[in-house]
Amino acid sequence: MLNLVLFGPPGAGKGTQSEKLIAQYQLVHLSTGDLLRSEIRGGTELGLRAKMLMDQGILVPDEVVIGMIENKLKENQSAAGFIFDGFPRTVPQAEALDELLAQYNTQIKVMIALVVDEQELTKRLLIRGQSSGRPDDQNEALIHRRIKEYNDKTAPVASYYESQGKFKAIGGIGNIEEIFQAICEKIETATANVR
Ligand code: AMP
Repeated sequence: MLNLVLFGPPGAGKGTQSEKLIAQYQLVHLSTGDLLRSEIRGGTELGLRAKMLMDQGILVPDEVVIGMIENKLKENQSAAGFIFDGFPRTVPQAEALDELLAQYNTQIKVMIALVVDEQELTKRLLIRGQSSGRPDDQNEALIHRRIKEYNDKTAPVASYYESQGKFKAIGGIGNIEEIFQAICEKIETATANVR
């Protein structure tokens, strides 16, 4: 299986690059943000509770997103692999993911981090907010809060994968196709390495 973590702050281009990677490698896309928004649309209790936090730019509890990922792994056992987008966002989530994948005798192959500075992220998210309809993309203070949440809680996840020799950083500003090619090169190198 080819399991990838696509990592980076909000607005780094994870969703855009995920779509291209799915087409290239036939992976199942697991975005906890998308899964949470679908719970909100469905009006579930989980969705209602998550919405209160998401509307403030705060992470939802680890057990909520870990439970969602656990269900999706169970539902997609014959997948060629998974692309994790927006997950794991904390070190406990990363540890839980390793344990879940071990149950299926598989693991994360590589973690690709898209690097984009805060000024560019804010600009992109405000533009996205004009068409995405996402309340958390439409307010600069909230965008700043989400980036702070990323720096405080999510950035340490990079060291977690670095200590496993799986962390690969790529500049996330520039031509979408060129960034995609750079990601593919990292993936090809990682999969060529016999571990
Ligand atoms: P995203 O679509 O990935 O930008 O996520 C939107 C919001 O959903 C975040 O600001 C969080 O409130 C919540 N969220 C998404 N994924 C996670 C996660 N892995 N852990 C905690 N909260 C999450």
